[in-house]
Amino acid sequence: MAGNITLTIIKPEAISKNYTGPILNMINQAGFSIAAMKLTKLSSKQAEEFYAVHRDKPFYNDLVEFISSGSIVAAVLEKDNAVEDFRKLIGATNPENAEEGTIRKLYAESLQMNAVHGSDSDENAQIESAFFFARSERADYL
Ligand code: GDP
Repeated sequence: MAGNITLTIIKPEAISKNYTGPILNMINQAGFSIAAMKLTKLSSKQAEEFYAVHRDKPFYNDLVEFISSGSIVAAVLEKDNAVEDFRKLIGATNPENAEEGTIRKLYAESLQMNAVHGSDSDENAQIESAFFFARSERADYL
């Protein structure tokens, strides 16, 4: 169902601060259904692959090290207009610029440790969902 899913990651610093429950609650309250979910940890190699699009950025090595530094929760979220609506719910990449009431405004620590990931396009939502979940791990309706 292209257009109706997005992939989120609750990042290591938010997990270690026990923000998982509050963040998932905000996600449900905003009308998203959880269509797949797991608590896992990325190896450096997996993190490099997930963030390959940022390979040439100056912050790439730090980002890979950070995202593979501890447990994460990955989830596929389902809703009409999922990618755009979820980006609104999480707020700007830099929490200093995030609007009041957004997940990053409430729970992010810094530009890098910004609590959550959200897919930036329908195509990437599909690719990122496949990165984390086998068909048997996703809700039947996906
Ligand atoms: P997003 O789509 O809002 O997550 O932002 P990007 O795709 O541009 O960046 C991916 C992730 O890299 C962000 O969520 C941050 O965790 C991190 N990041 C982005 N820009 C910077 C930066 O300038 N410095 C550092 N250290 N991390 C950054």
